[in-house]
Amino acid sequence: MGLGHSLVIALTLFCAGLQSLQALEWGYWGKYEPQNWPGVCKTGKKQSPIDIVTEDAIRTDLGALKFDRYDFAFTGTLVNNGHSVEVRLYGVPILLTGSTLSSTYIFEQMHFHWSAEHTVDGARDPLELHLVHYDKKYANLSEAAQHKGGIAVVAVLFELSVNDNLDLSPIVEATKMVSHWVGHSMMHIRTKMIPLWFLPKDHTTYYHYEGSLTTPECQESVMWFVMTEKLKVSEAQMNVFRHVESNNGTLKHNYRPVQNLGHRKVYHRLEGYVNAAFNVTWSVYTVLTILLIRFLYGNF
Ligand SMILES: [Zn+2]
Repeated sequence: MGLGHSLVIALTLFCAGLQSLQALEWGYWGKYEPQNWPGVCKTGKKQSPIDIVTEDAIRTDLGALKFDRYDFAFTGTLVNNGHSVEVRLYGVPILLTGSTLSSTYIFEQMHFHWSAEHTVDGARDPLELHLVHYDKKYANLSEAAQHKGGIAVVAVLFELSVNDNLDLSPIVEATKMVSHWVGHSMMHIRTKMIPLWFLPKDHTTYYHYEGSLTTPECQESVMWFVMTEKLKVSEAQMNVFRHVESNNGTLKHNYRPVQNLGHRKVYHRLEGYVNAAFNVTWSVYTVLTILLIRFLYGNF
């Protein structure tokens, strides 16, 4: 029994080791670049990110996203996980509802990609923030990732500006501190943060589509909301992100190339927008009604 038991433990440890090794073996260049990511990353039909072609996006009013407790102040920590810098906030749950979401989604973490992952009409911004939420009916993010619509990500694009974005400063400072700490050492962020700082002023308009996580295992469980309005970031702040270390050298960039849209549709939410197709249908209906009245009552 002793030997069998030890063998089981050894095998378990070996498998756990393999698994963590596998989990580490993906990156953005060289042998483990995005083209070589396995499984659904390679075979999926609803992958992210995508290029948003603004002309092709279906303009419609999907309803507002509701950012609940995004105006509260939270203490936060930041980690360099070797693929990005990730911020967690502590205290009461921060919630996302509304739009096409039929449930309440709980904020889990936010992280950055440099350069941006989503392009708009082929143009790529220097930075993209992902605010990651999961459906509250699941126990945690990894369980939610196994279900269609289990995750809702709000993406915010940053365009280059001459001045520093002061709302980003506490995160940039913490990033500087952890840039050489690849792994799970946490850095407390100097000041309390208000999540609203990381959303554009106008959060009524956004692009929406159904896609995947943009990192392995690329599960196709994400409702994407890419905000139309952008925030600003300076070149000096960008240089801090570009000097973050990974297990495989400096993380100069950590974006996945855009994926095929395939049969999916991209929606452009515009408040109060009445669909043009609806107008056409309505006009045809009106004309037919007038013709019918004329037919019934003669020409008057
Ligand atoms: Zn991301």
